[in-house]
Amino acid sequence: MATERNNDPANAAQKLLKELNIRSAPVPVEKIAKALEAQIRFSPLDDELSGMIYIKDGTAIIGVNSLHHSNRQRFTIAHEIAHLRLHSDLISQEVHVDKKFSVLFRDATSSIGTEKIEVEANKFAAELLIPQALLEKELEGKTFDIDDDSLLEKLAKKFQVSRQMLDHRIRNMIRQQ
Ligand SMILES: [Zn+2]
Repeated sequence: MATERNNDPANAAQKLLKELNIRSAPVPVEKIAKALEAQIRFSPLDDELSGMIYIKDGTAIIGVNSLHHSNRQRFTIAHEIAHLRLHSDLISQEVHVDKKFSVLFRDATSSIGTEKIEVEANKFAAELLIPQALLEKELEGKTFDIDDDSLLEKLAKKFQVSRQMLDHRIRNMIRQQ
């Protein structure tokens, strides 16, 4: 299907990267948050809490669990940036709290309500942290094997993302071809 979806979360993430002229990995998520005038606050939270976002007196505040692995913190920040860009109405009304991102692998069309915005935010975050164009550039000219652990490790390090997320992203990309 060639219909363009302007409100597609991945497109929104690509647009943001373009606006900020970001063209290499790792994508500087903290800088992006700053560019959007959001404040990031790291604090130790319960393990099942990844982060949160709310808008107070016109300023977006992103809370991140400082006890989590840095890759996971990057995902949390990217996810909250997504809410800021896509769901600002919602986070102006109340604090949005994110627990474990268990909906990462579900399809947006099968989701409703709150779950729908989480799926959208996860899609945005995946594109922001591993932009398709950058990933394609990395894989260009390589005989790629999804079971090639050393290449995948290298890529996960380069993008500063978890292996699970990278694998998910690559599988999605292959499916779309
Ligand atoms: Zn969320």
